[in-house]
Amino acid sequence: MDTVTKEKRSEMMSGIRSRNTKPELLIRKGLFKLGYRYRINSKIYGKPDIVLKKYNAVIFIHGCFWHGHIGCENFKIPKSNTQFWVEKIEKNRDRDAGVLNYLRASGWRICIIWECAIRGKTQMKNFDKIINRISKWLISKRIWIEITSDTYNKQ
Ligand SMILES: [Zn+2]
Repeated sequence: MDTVTKEKRSEMMSGIRSRNTKPELLIRKGLFKLGYRYRINSKIYGKPDIVLKKYNAVIFIHGCFWHGHIGCENFKIPKSNTQFWVEKIEKNRDRDAGVLNYLRASGWRICIIWECAIRGKTQMKNFDKIINRISKWLISKRIWIEITSDTYNKQ
């Protein structure tokens, strides 16, 4: 028996939709489709978003603001409380650098995906390309890959 009202159902559906459009989820799904298996919520230092142990690889999906994506249009220090934000983002960047150094020293290969590469409609058109780039990297010997938006690359 269907006890869920129309309103409730559409609420649920939209909830599901918005959860599924989360960048991390899309990347995971895309990799899964290609046959990659991974761990999430791993205990690895720095809490990578996706861990592919078989490939010695970790993937971080970085929000451009919080992680201070320099040169990116999504990273602008607010006009008020400027000093606070500068210091906060600087701290985050330092922490990220520490995590990456540690992971590299521990033999992990690292992929950084900046959110500007996978957010928004234009970016979604390139989604398969991005998944392919990650896939190529995974089976390569390269230690490091960083993926940003096309607009960023044009700058
Ligand atoms: Zn960015």
